[in-house]
Amino acid sequence: LPVLCLENTSAVYAGGVVALSRFNLEVQAGEFCVILGPSGSGKSTLLRLISGLVPTSSGTVTIGGIKMAPPTRRKARQRLGMVHQDHGLIDRLSVLDNVMAGCAGSLPFWRLMLRMYPRPVVDAACQLLDEVGLTEAQANRRARELSGGQRQRVGIARALMGTPLLILADEPVASLDPQTSRIILALLRRAAKDRGIAVLCSLHQMDLAREFADRIVVMRNGRPVFNDCPAELSGFL
Ligand code: ADP
Ligand code: ADP
Repeated sequence: LPVLCLENTSAVYAGGVVALSRFNLEVQAGEFCVILGPSGSGKSTLLRLISGLVPTSSGTVTIGGIKMAPPTRRKARQRLGMVHQDHGLIDRLSVLDNVMAGCAGSLPFWRLMLRMYPRPVVDAACQLLDEVGLTEAQANRRARELSGGQRQRVGIARALMGTPLLILADEPVASLDPQTSRIILALLRRAAKDRGIAVLCSLHQMDLAREFADRIVVMRNGRPVFNDCPAELSGFL
């Protein structure tokens, strides 16, 4: 069973803009799938639709067999980790607090308010920060004091904190230099391989897609015009 499954999924915005048209997509556990396409081709709409922020006009989205629609939307969202272009960190909080916020959904509200996390949560967050290559000293710094690349490492650790089945990464390296971009994509790829997470990642750079993806989906006008392994891309272009 694929982790992510889109069946005949369409998205129409107010005003009638058809941003996605009868889209079919499957992403398996452990698979690193990259979405390429020009600006306006529907990449962000696709990711927002999968995360339940844009409603489907027709068709379905399921994550781990659970429908991303009422009444199961909340449950489907718990299977999901998000990595954003701008990292989406809370600047004034420590790096460690930002990572622990990744499991906010499974903790009582007062713990979040008082930032009193159970010991296993603290340990798991420290372990994840170590895995993404951040030191204990960096864990205690405020998020705003880190570089762009370091902040994106935190973003990945936070996404992993919720033990997701699927990670959605929306242009995660758009503001990073090529060398840092490779480090971040390697971390996402390793998350897929080591933990069996399905990763769906939008990118602008074709060379990075070829280097890291198991599968590339090229979008044009809200439709997938290519969906295959990187080796087949030359024949398509
Ligand atoms: P980017 O390419 O950096 O994602 P866009 O210029 O595509 O930025 O979109 C910026 C914001 O404007 C997004 O939040 C998007 O939802 C919104 N947007 C884009 N196109 C339209 C549109 N035709 N009508 C209304 N909102 C739009
Ligand atoms: P991409 O991420 O590939 O740049 P988008 O998903 O942002 O593409 O946009 C796909 C299409 O949907 C574009 O035609 C865009 O103008 C339109 N669009 C995006 N967001 C909105 C919105 N909030 N309202 C209306 N139209 C939108």
